[in-house]
Amino acid sequence: MNAHDSEKVVGTLLARGYREVPTPEEADLVLYNTCSIRDKAEQKVFTRLQNFKREAGKGKVFAVLGCVAQQEGERIFERAPHVSLVAGSASYTRLPEMLVQLEEGNRRVTGLSLDTDETFDTPFTRRDNPHRAYITIIEGCDKSCAYCVVPFTRGPERSRTGESVLAEARRLAESGYTEIQLLGQNVNSYRDPSPAAWDFATLLARTAEVPGIRRVRYTTSHPRDFIKAIVDAMDSNPVLCNHVHLPVQSGSNRVLGAMQRLYTREQYLERIAWIKNARRKMALTTDIIVGFPGETEADFEETLTLLDEVQYDSLFSFKYSPRPNTAALAMEDKIPDAEKARRLMVLNEKQRAIQIRRNAEFIGSLEEVLVEGHNPATGQWIGRTSQNRTLNFTHPPNGGASLVGRYLNVRVTRSGPNSLAGESAANVM
Ligand code: SF4
Repeated sequence: MNAHDSEKVVGTLLARGYREVPTPEEADLVLYNTCSIRDKAEQKVFTRLQNFKREAGKGKVFAVLGCVAQQEGERIFERAPHVSLVAGSASYTRLPEMLVQLEEGNRRVTGLSLDTDETFDTPFTRRDNPHRAYITIIEGCDKSCAYCVVPFTRGPERSRTGESVLAEARRLAESGYTEIQLLGQNVNSYRDPSPAAWDFATLLARTAEVPGIRRVRYTTSHPRDFIKAIVDAMDSNPVLCNHVHLPVQSGSNRVLGAMQRLYTREQYLERIAWIKNARRKMALTTDIIVGFPGETEADFEETLTLLDEVQYDSLFSFKYSPRPNTAALAMEDKIPDAEKARRLMVLNEKQRAIQIRRNAEFIGSLEEVLVEGHNPATGQWIGRTSQNRTLNFTHPPNGGASLVGRYLNVRVTRSGPNSLAGESAANVM
């Protein structure tokens, strides 16, 4: 979401006549978009701002955007006095107005209100990728997971109208985009604010019908709001990629309760069963936090048994990191960092073995990939399957023409823990 916010901010600046330069050294205005989901990311912001300080005397203007801006607010001006603009994502609709204030020489401009029902819906988005585009469908979050800063930094849930999402998808298809990724902190709680009142499953199905769009993905899901109609929609239209990212965070009901995740292991597994029982073979990925306050060895073991049971295709794992304002901050039974690191290692080793096994099952199969790049060092092309697997492949010499953005059938010949390798079937589509 941050990457896409940056695309919208850059587009807004370009529309006002700004020009993008390759390095911060060449810029008159430096905007730093930030993440505070983990403590380490936040520390990096202040180190980077410190490095920028040397440049401040040269008339450069500095801005801090995103979650650290929202969380630290005007304290950023104290820690980094050379910063002139501090704005959280819930205030980006005011960005043009804030830019005017900066241009007028105002040295302290803020956009920190979370009190909004607007989304940052701009026609000016400047996109980084010419084939795959993000579309935000919902911003903010109304859940209150005990470890998470998002409700404090991105504000309450606000959905865009289904018609404005489809209009953006049509514009993208007309300009050559073939893959769309619908974005939101919790896409499953999407609710069209227009009288049509589409839910997420309906929006998914309608987006998949936009002519020219060949792939639709979405991220991220909350298991509590993940309903069977979503799987049914995916099952009935192959344009909807066969991959579900369903963050579980822990396999222990005790820890899930403490995390205020609003579902049990059993309810989560019920959703996994819907996905596994679909006619199309869907890839499953998740997020896991180890070392949440009070997580015992037995709780952690339950997370490991969940991995055995689900057999994820991939996962993102994190050591719990205390964040400001969150309920977990006040919880007893902190886990030492060395123990968190041990659990993370055990988890990742188990998952690596699962991935080696699961990826090996693809050897011999024919997969359609969207070509994303070329690696000159290996001579291989880099593709992505509908299941979101990276598939590196060789292709017969074609006079140096780029395949990027094309859809190809690739025969899988080898596999590793994190990717597949193969040879193109050479019939460019
Ligand atoms: S659902 Fe929970 S983890 Fe996800 S953004 Fe909302 S509060 Fe954070």
